[in-house]
Formats: sequence, C-alpha cells, structure tokens
Amino acid sequence: MRPIDADALNMYLCELQMANLGEDDDYCETLNEVIHIVDGQPTILAETVEHGEWTVIEDDYAGLTLIECSLCHEEWCFEVDPDDLDLVNYNYCPNCGADMRERKET
Ligand SMILES: [Zn+2]
Repeated sequence: MRPIDADALNMYLCELQMANLGEDDDYCETLNEVIHIVDGQPTILAETVEHGEWTVIEDDYAGLTLIECSLCHEEWCFEVDPDDLDLVNYNYCPNCGADMRERKET
C-alpha cells in the first residue's frame, strides 16, 4: 500500500477540471466523477513512529559502552565513545523500532 494525500489529489483534479471547463465537457464530467470516487474512499490513520534516544547505562562495560533505548529499555553494547552517541549507527531501535535519529524541526 502507498498512502497518498487524497486532498492534494482532488485539488489537482479540480485544477484540471477548471483548465478544461467549456473546452471538453465529457472530460470535466469524468473528472467530477473521479473526484467523488476519491472523496468516498476510507481514510487510514498514518501510523506515527515514536522517537527515542540512546541512554548510556555503563561507560566501561568490559571496554564497551552499554546503552539502552529510552522507550523499550533494551540494552546493547557498542564500541562507541560514551560522550558521542551520535556514532551509534542504528537509526532505529532494533527491538521496538523507535526512530533514534534526532527529531527534525518541521
Ligand atoms: Zn527500543
């Protein structure tokens, strides 16, 4: 499945309709039907991905850094500088799937 923005699609179809108004009535009529079909489709709530962050549990665990996911608290050992967790090269928690990248301002 590929979720799309149905409102944006209908906006585009309306623009097409306006551009062809009075020129091709059959085409405009068909566009009108398609717009109603799109409007009638069920809305699916997009799943939101939770954000988490790595937390240092122990900075010298047999020479490794022990970190945990702030959401599921699963622990992992990494050969990474405990002061620079940006070097942990997992974008998502391998256990719960939380997005571990820094939250981007939108
Ligand atoms: Zn997790």
